[in-house]
Amino acid sequence: MELWYSENHSRDVQFSIRVEKQLYTAQTEFQRIDVMTSNEFGTFLTLDGLMMVAEKDEFIYHEMITHVPMSVNPGIENVLVIGGGDGGTVNQLVRYGGIKHIDLVEIDREVIEVSKRFFPELSAGMSDKRVSIYYEDGLRFIRSRHGEYDLIIVDSTDPFGPGEGLFTREFYGSCSKALTENGILVNQHESPYYEDYANSLARTHARIKGVFPIHRLYQAHIPTYPSGHWLFGFASNKFDPVLDIKAEEWNRLNIKTRYYNTELHKGSFALPNYVKELLENV
Ligand code: SAM
Repeated sequence: MELWYSENHSRDVQFSIRVEKQLYTAQTEFQRIDVMTSNEFGTFLTLDGLMMVAEKDEFIYHEMITHVPMSVNPGIENVLVIGGGDGGTVNQLVRYGGIKHIDLVEIDREVIEVSKRFFPELSAGMSDKRVSIYYEDGLRFIRSRHGEYDLIIVDSTDPFGPGEGLFTREFYGSCSKALTENGILVNQHESPYYEDYANSLARTHARIKGVFPIHRLYQAHIPTYPSGHWLFGFASNKFDPVLDIKAEEWNRLNIKTRYYNTELHKGSFALPNYVKELLENV
């Protein structure tokens, strides 16, 4: 008998992965957590049935959500990661010797425990002595922070369920307050292809643009995410993510990557016309 994991990418489109074995399932206070293994994508984690992280393509997402801001301001010292309970984002950040402290705010302790158990390499960075973990709602946590962070990365679930509050104007206003004047906000910004995702993306863009003078989207190809065309948001009061990239300085850090490079960085901000129109019509 074959076992398949399927996720609806739209009402009429399903994405399926043949499952070798289900390793874990639990219902927490916040969401359902499942861990499965597969031939194609290795071990993967889903929350409420939605793909979160897969062993074989996670490097794309985690390299793009971290190295883009870090190459615009290699002087970043204090970082806040909201969500990110699988540890993949922190795992990339701890590779920077210049980073002094990382606050990780994850609402669901169980996600971190599960990641440590089933994704030992991906979650290893969370044990770095520079990392402090807070088990709480990022929307609440951020309200008490002022001018503390050089970088905030919102590595959250989609804008419904526990993640909903992390896509609001109030939240982005709090992020702006919590950043230093040179601060950068990067968020996972959903996908432009399927209608439901595109509508959510446009709303999020409008909200962030209402708070930050510079807000640009960039893209990557992530095979396990809806349509594979995934966007990230880069917001700042000071830095333009393409004009201000410190490519030589970043390259001198000699951080080995499998997806990110400073040429791809610039290209990733060149969006398709249909996406530009979607954003212009906001
Ligand atoms: N890379 C994935 C993506 O793009 O969908 C996200 C991965 S990570 C597992 C998402 C994390 O966000 C989950 O562990 C979830 O518990 C956490 N999360 C959701 N809402 C949150 C909130 N309001 N505050 C803090 N963490 C939250």
